[in-house]
Amino acid sequence: MTDTHCPAPIAFADVVDYWAGELTRAEEDRIEEHVFSCADCARDFAAAEALARGITAVAREGRLHSVVSDAILNRLAADGVRIRMYTLEGAGIIPCAVWADDDLVVSRIRADFAEVDSVTIVTRQASGEEISRVSDIAVRPGQREILNAFSAAHLRKLPSTRVQVTVTAPIGSGERTIAEYTLEHAGAFDRLTGRR
Ligand SMILES: [Zn+2]
Repeated sequence: MTDTHCPAPIAFADVVDYWAGELTRAEEDRIEEHVFSCADCARDFAAAEALARGITAVAREGRLHSVVSDAILNRLAADGVRIRMYTLEGAGIIPCAVWADDDLVVSRIRADFAEVDSVTIVTRQASGEEISRVSDIAVRPGQREILNAFSAAHLRKLPSTRVQVTVTAPIGSGERTIAEYTLEHAGAFDRLTGRR
């Protein structure tokens, strides 16, 4: 959004929220009115929306490791992205797997996020190798869950392995663990013939 003469350009985050349907009617109206009357922002908005829509392609190509919202998942599902969801809550081992026709696998991570402003989520194989790391995720007051999305194409490359998901929050100069979950990843399956 550089090289613009607009005194109040629309933030990219607002465009993503607009695309995902997360804004109120009034906020949508404000953005639409602005875009209709501002050539600079109309150009930026078109580019940013194309980028937001690109999330669908990115999810399918195996490059998405990110925190998403229910609104974004709903929008992706409406666009035909096939989403598999696992809920991580409490103790106990959660069985999981990825199937041939999955596009996106989402960990719905439920924890007590009270008294933390941000968290880091690290997902590791039993070997210790990281599957993904998402750092400095902002947590809103009262937030009860974080949705961590993975490209199924990436997970299909994993062996069957125990998977550890660790949620940490900054304390002083270090990090403290606020939640930990264990999944037993059975591997990649084909819908018709079973285990590959
Ligand atoms: Zn503008």
